[in-house]
Amino acid sequence: MAVPDGFHGRVLNTDVRKPPHNIWLRAALAFTAVAALVSLYLLGVELTGVMPRCLFRDITGWSCPGCGSQRALHALLEGDLTEAWSYNYMIPFTLAYVAICGMHWILPYSTHIGKIYRCLTTPRALYVLLGAVIAWTVARNMLGI
Ligand SMILES: [Zn+2]
Repeated sequence: MAVPDGFHGRVLNTDVRKPPHNIWLRAALAFTAVAALVSLYLLGVELTGVMPRCLFRDITGWSCPGCGSQRALHALLEGDLTEAWSYNYMIPFTLAYVAICGMHWILPYSTHIGKIYRCLTTPRALYVLLGAVIAWTVARNMLGI
């Protein structure tokens, strides 16, 4: 529904229920990006047998919050969930967070996904996430996991 704003005679679009026209385009872009990254990663690792090293670990000798993620993703792509979990315990939570953010990007008008997305991206939630990442980093280096 278009409503004149009464000030400059502009027309405002107030119909927030209108679905976006580019849902399929966004889904295709997301799928293509993920497929390209997975293909490049698998091709690179399978052909060379080399995984990029962690710069933080090389410099400090400590594990960063993401250490083990490459091996975990590789194990996930091969369908081994237990092995993936053993490489980095934050992987399931990280993937869930990224999936929700990606789904919100693809379906911005979905009320269910929108509610979850808004809960996960409040300043308080982001501080909790930052605290969890710091706690995970400290714990994994103290416990050697
Ligand atoms: Zn690392």
